Amino acid sequence: MTKTLDWGNRRYNAFADRLKDRFGFRLQKLTIDAGFTCPNRDGTKGIGGCTYCNNDAFNPSYCHPEKSIAQQLSEGIEFHKKRYRRATSFLAYFQAYSNSWAHLKQLKQIYSQALEFEDVKGIIIGTRPDCIDEAKLDYFEELTKTHFVSIEYGIESCYDTTLQLINRGHDFKTAVEAIQMTANRGIHIGTHLIFGLPGESREEMLAQAEIISQLPINSIKFHQLQIIKDTAMEKDYTLHPESYIFFSLDEYIDFVIDFIERLSPAIAIERFAGEVPPRFLAGPGWGLIRNDQINILIEKRLEERDSWQGKYFQAEAKLFNS
Ligand code: SF4
Repeated sequence: MTKTLDWGNRRYNAFADRLKDRFGFRLQKLTIDAGFTCPNRDGTKGIGGCTYCNNDAFNPSYCHPEKSIAQQLSEGIEFHKKRYRRATSFLAYFQAYSNSWAHLKQLKQIYSQALEFEDVKGIIIGTRPDCIDEAKLDYFEELTKTHFVSIEYGIESCYDTTLQLINRGHDFKTAVEAIQMTANRGIHIGTHLIFGLPGESREEMLAQAEIISQLPINSIKFHQLQIIKDTAMEKDYTLHPESYIFFSLDEYIDFVIDFIERLSPAIAIERFAGEVPPRFLAGPGWGLIRNDQINILIEKRLEERDSWQGKYFQAEAKLFNS
């Protein structure tokens, strides 16, 4: 079997490269907390949230909802310009909670503020698949005429039994429908999956590659399961540690390669693993290793295995009506 796609020196389709292809330069993400909540916390679907969720673990220190969008962006731009001298263009990343969970009028106020910044070339909207509708998508589609617009849907798992177990408050079909509704509008569709959720076997996790490959998505982020402090999952883990199996770093690298060998080469990979500050961790971790180091280890293992993304991908299967 030979590798046919050309990703330069890489053996996988890297989202950072695709962004660079599009803009011709590197973009820095600025995380913004616009003060949204989510239907799984405000009582619409539930109040406890997903069992693994503690948003504090993901938010940078400059990012607080009591500050205006403009203030967060100004401070973020200043922070990044000092830290990475070459950072001159940015994507505003609305990460915390569900960033399409508000009335359209409010969404317009929030996102138009971000796009007033000349150096902000686009927005990334992290959200749940049950927080989108045609009217909101019409608005985001309109924005694509002038800016890069990405909607990141948390899929987390393709299995409803898992989604129930982690109290997601929506099923996999909802994710499929949201993605199909978003497709063909010029909106970049990003997604998340978590590997290692309780109850899923290695084979079941791997089988998701075929399912995900048939969705009209542009990019994906992978997270290894981590037990975060002050979550329902921490309590469950304390009571039932036997229900949780964690990948060692070495096992994870081979697992992720097995997964991307089955994944469509058309789907860009944005991240292979989640990074949580060790002070938030209540379960096993991989120490202080950073994502860029994990990327290097994956590249090295791909080479050792003479492998690449999509090596075993089969395009013919058809699981969804489009
Ligand atoms: S992970 Fe997202 S959807 Fe789940 S409770 Fe947290 S903010 Fe809400």
